Amino acid sequence: MPDYTTGVMMSVGWTLEQLQQVKDLGFQNVQIAAPYKAVLDSPDVRQKLIDGIKSVGIEVTTVFAGFDGESYADVPTVKETVGYLNPATREERIQRTADIGEFAQSLGVDKVAAHVGFVPEEHEDPAYAPMVEAVSRVADDCARRGQIFSLETGQEGGAALLRYLTDMGRGNVKVNFDPANMILYGSGEPIEALGIVAAHVVSVHAKDGKWPPGEGQLGTEFPLGQGDVGMENFVAKLKEIGYKGAVTIEREIPDWDQKVKDLVDAKALLESLY
Ligand code: MG
Repeated sequence: MPDYTTGVMMSVGWTLEQLQQVKDLGFQNVQIAAPYKAVLDSPDVRQKLIDGIKSVGIEVTTVFAGFDGESYADVPTVKETVGYLNPATREERIQRTADIGEFAQSLGVDKVAAHVGFVPEEHEDPAYAPMVEAVSRVADDCARRGQIFSLETGQEGGAALLRYLTDMGRGNVKVNFDPANMILYGSGEPIEALGIVAAHVVSVHAKDGKWPPGEGQLGTEFPLGQGDVGMENFVAKLKEIGYKGAVTIEREIPDWDQKVKDLVDAKALLESLY
């Protein structure tokens, strides 16, 4: 048995047909973006989706929470709109995450994840303590269902992330490590950061990207192996830290057919490196 499986991140807007296609291509598991609010709030539609996912029969390792109004256009917009940072949307999103956790439970999935938003690097920042409190509440709610809540990495460096995890002090708060995000947000060398948070990593994204061209800007995502992550080094580091589990390939482009091509190439690349 190899120490890893290859999976696919099914981004917002995915369909059951695409899920079937991914399974037919030989991927062993998926992470799925949570359905829209309209689906979650409609018991019939929600149940139909759950039945549909179960009938495809591919393992779902994680359900990713996402929220209405999130935008990754640039760094200030991410700060304003993503995750739990903005007090204006925080409470509603904590509730929404609970709905998503219940949806995940219906699928037998024990991991819920999210981009929680920018966590301030400075303890003294007035936004830091509320971010500790908000994500701790989300995690405690997940714990009641026996679920892990994992943080998608990328918007903070390894040391800051480790301190944040320590300050929350929750045994079920873990890390979904995405090496490309650290490059896209310019938040530090990902391979080094993986070493720093290794003990907390429960899932990983295989994604690639190039550094931002300037301050306040975001880098650009590239097909696996064509960006600045260094996939050889990433895989070597995963082996070094003893990571065993799903390596979930993430490719964030809207064109599904191109995405499938890139996923297949990425799978072959990972297999050549493992
Ligand atoms: Mg990711």
